[in-house]
Amino acid sequence: MTKRGRCLCGRTRWEYRGEARWACYCHCDDCRRNCAAPVVAWFGVPIENFTWVGDPPKTLESAKGVRRHFCETCGSPMGFEADHYAGGMHLYAATLEDPEDFKPTFHVNYESRLPWLQIDDDLPKYEGTMLQAPEALWGYETK
Ligand SMILES: [Zn+2]
Ligand SMILES: [Zn+2]
Repeated sequence: MTKRGRCLCGRTRWEYRGEARWACYCHCDDCRRNCAAPVVAWFGVPIENFTWVGDPPKTLESAKGVRRHFCETCGSPMGFEADHYAGGMHLYAATLEDPEDFKPTFHVNYESRLPWLQIDDDLPKYEGTMLQAPEALWGYETK
């Protein structure tokens, strides 16, 4: 099965084969500012199953070893890679062609959540990054 996503203007797109490895919400300040959104929904796919389509994204090294990809034309955030998450491409659920199908299963950086954001799900809520979340299934190579 191939899943697809796109930016606001449609020039930068991606697709991947197979299944996503994990799906979560991140409440960290970096993701929030990068997306200008109160919380960001993410999922991860093995890099070997992933390809950019259309215009390739621009990339900002937002911290050492952290690469945030975005559409050069419209500025939409489109992907995230980091040396400490080697082997995976992190994608924004809201860029999916069918974001309705997304099913997040945990929260990370929950201690940083905005106080006015009402969350009433019963998903696991972790303090700290995905490295603290067993659901993130480290080792994309273990498929
Ligand atoms: Zn665009
Ligand atoms: Zn984050």
